Amino acid sequence: MDKSSDKEHDHKKLGKELDLFAFSDSVGKGLPLFTPKGSVIRRELERFIVDEEIKRNYLHVYTPDIAKLDLYIKSGHYPHYKDSMYAPIEIDKEQFMLRPMTCPHHFELYLRKPVSYRELPMRIAELAKLYRYEQSGELMGLQRVRTFCLADAHIICASEEQAVEEISNALDLIEYVTSVFGLALDVDYRYRLSLGDRANTEKYYKNDAGWEKGEDLLRKLMQKRGSKFEEAKDEAAFYGPKIDIQMKYVNCKEDTAFTVQYDFCMPERFDLTYIGEDGEKHRAFVVHRSSIGAIERIMAFLIEKYAGAFPFWLSPVQVRVLSVSEKHVAYAQEVLATLRTAHIRADLDNANESLGKKIRAGKTEKIPYLLIVGDKEVEAKTISVESRDHGKQEAASLLDFIAKTNEEIRTRK
Ligand SMILES: [Zn+2]
Repeated sequence: MDKSSDKEHDHKKLGKELDLFAFSDSVGKGLPLFTPKGSVIRRELERFIVDEEIKRNYLHVYTPDIAKLDLYIKSGHYPHYKDSMYAPIEIDKEQFMLRPMTCPHHFELYLRKPVSYRELPMRIAELAKLYRYEQSGELMGLQRVRTFCLADAHIICASEEQAVEEISNALDLIEYVTSVFGLALDVDYRYRLSLGDRANTEKYYKNDAGWEKGEDLLRKLMQKRGSKFEEAKDEAAFYGPKIDIQMKYVNCKEDTAFTVQYDFCMPERFDLTYIGEDGEKHRAFVVHRSSIGAIERIMAFLIEKYAGAFPFWLSPVQVRVLSVSEKHVAYAQEVLATLRTAHIRADLDNANESLGKKIRAGKTEKIPYLLIVGDKEVEAKTISVESRDHGKQEAASLLDFIAKTNEEIRTRK
């Protein structure tokens, strides 16, 4: 990214200019409000990842944003992450917490009935709203917030081998997602193998052999995949080592965008088992992973990357119809209705202004396509297309234009 334009690419500035999100002191620091336009981008990202995960045999679920404090004491989140959790809420003399993580909810769901080895790996996924206390000095636009939506999943596996295979599949999914956004490994993001620290038993679950084995499995997997990676000591989760995908933002701050974690601790704490081929109960293994990461954080990244010129499938307004003069408004409205019926996000500029002014306004807003409707178009029942990325195009039939744009949506090009 061009250094000289870093300031212009700051997502906080662009978010305001493009009217994508806002903050209100009355609502609270670090609690983003998404505008209708910002919500379009968010919804498209959510649809994209849910559809892609379902295609890859994930089971999407919903679980509540709060749970009893005891659940997080059992999972170890409360003792380890207490400082980044909100204070308990008392309801009917019981203590509840806004959840900082999804894991224990998914484990309780898994425990509702006995599971056969044939059902594993079981990939439980959710677009989960999480709540974490970040110090006010750390808050930064959508990049660092106090509530966010994580594309989270917990994969329950029958063996270490199965867990390693699932970690590899999760990395494949992450590489697919980043390719859709036009991001390249080792250019826009890099892999980091995050290790524990055997000496720090306060920060990390005590099981030296488990750590040794887990770290070795992840290291061997990365070597087998042939990806470059760095190792970082003392960056693991308290329950096991992880592979982090580190992204660089315009402000040059690097952040973990996505993560895949190997867990040999929670299966014991929650007594996660499955019925093996021998009819006996066996201990399960767990992989924690995010695919598209926190929606807020990836949005911050994409706003900076595209500087407002979003690809067609993510654009809040995809097409604007411009009427040359008053007498073309009726046909322009017809065009607009046809576009909307075809699920294209379109609007109409029929203001009493010159065409040049309307085109300039559409370009400033970085709308992918402007459709111009004047005498010639009304007569021939066509449209003239002005593309943001390819300039002026030949007059076309509206149906051909819709077919072409539908293909752009389908392929997310
Ligand atoms: Zn988890």
